[in-house]
Amino acid sequence: MKLAGMWKDAIDGLVKKPVTERYPFVRLDAPPRLRGRLHWDSTECTGCQLCSKDCPADAIEVITIDKKAKQFVFRYHVDRCTFCAQCVVSCNKNCLSMSSDEWELAGLSRGPMTLTFGDEEHVAAVLAQRADPDAEPAGSE
Ligand code: SF4
Ligand code: SF4
Repeated sequence: MKLAGMWKDAIDGLVKKPVTERYPFVRLDAPPRLRGRLHWDSTECTGCQLCSKDCPADAIEVITIDKKAKQFVFRYHVDRCTFCAQCVVSCNKNCLSMSSDEWELAGLSRGPMTLTFGDEEHVAAVLAQRADPDAEPAGSE
């Protein structure tokens, strides 16, 4: 490169806006099709288990509390998820979606990587049962 060209690049570098982003101080919107954290809408869920069976990463558990009353607890293991969206495609009730905005999912331990959704009382019962496997089962998977 000629000296004049080098000087031009150096001066351009001083006056132009940086091309890098100031993340995490400035957080830009992610593309709308980005596959971030999975969300479960329980309203139409039938507990059919298709999402769980089709998940290649064993990242979903659907625990049936009362099938007739459509009461389920949904557990999502973020740390296992490959963000393939197979579960979203498999659910024929459109209960599952992936947020394009929740993508900062790193953590220092695995515990908080398991998210449990459902009625508060059912979630508490499932978590208690997981903590003490000898306790009365909260439901069936
Ligand atoms: S596939 Fe859909 S309806 Fe079936 S258990 Fe999963 S979320 Fe519920
Ligand atoms: S996105 Fe893929 S890996 Fe993640 S829970 Fe759904 S099916 Fe499993």
